[in-house]
Amino acid sequence: MKAEISNLVKLQGRDDEIRTLEIRLAEIPKEVEELEREIATEKKNLKDAEDAHTEAQKSQRAAEGELAAKEEQRSKYETQLMSVKSNEEYKAMQKQIEVVKREIGDVETKILQGLDTLEELESKRAERERELKEGQIKVSGMEKELDVEKAKFEAELAERQASRKELLSLIPEDLLAEYQKIANARSGVAMAAAVDERCQACMVRMRPQVFHELKLGDKHVCSSCSRILYYLEEEKTTTI
Ligand SMILES: [Zn+2]
Repeated sequence: MKAEISNLVKLQGRDDEIRTLEIRLAEIPKEVEELEREIATEKKNLKDAEDAHTEAQKSQRAAEGELAAKEEQRSKYETQLMSVKSNEEYKAMQKQIEVVKREIGDVETKILQGLDTLEELESKRAERERELKEGQIKVSGMEKELDVEKAKFEAELAERQASRKELLSLIPEDLLAEYQKIANARSGVAMAAAVDERCQACMVRMRPQVFHELKLGDKHVCSSCSRILYYLEEEKTTTI
């Protein structure tokens, strides 16, 4: 029985490793997705910054058009001023010229402010572009690392699965069935070390006789958690 129990312990080891590798392998596509999401966000940020910049350029062109129209209006009024007949007409025309001059001043201020805005938006756009480029470099590096990791884990998994298969041929069917049944019911953990007369899975104490028989290689299950017990010398408790 001693050899069989020892093979079961090895089987548990393989199963633990396989489970860990499978969990890690399942995480990799999620990590890739997360990285892709980061890039998508950066692309969206850049697009928003580009749109804001384009919008500001449009309003700037509109303001320049407005300025040209007002200038034209002013020179038209100034020409008209030369040919007015009455004093009232002259005064009225001058008033209109004053109004259009004020409007020109306002548009010029708007254009100057627009230049500041444009500069600001352009530097923001450039910053977003830089962020995207840096993000793409970072993400493609990380994706390559994940690819390498994935290949490594897949190779390890295949190796562990082959080793597990070999072990299976060494374990009697009924014992294997028992192991599998307990593992299924106990989150994959069918084996429990017995140390200092305690089951290390549930920490419940066992009879000294049971502990003694485990030392000799007999098979016992824990009276509390039903796992198959195996004797483990105390100094080895950290390396199951
Ligand atoms: Zn137990």
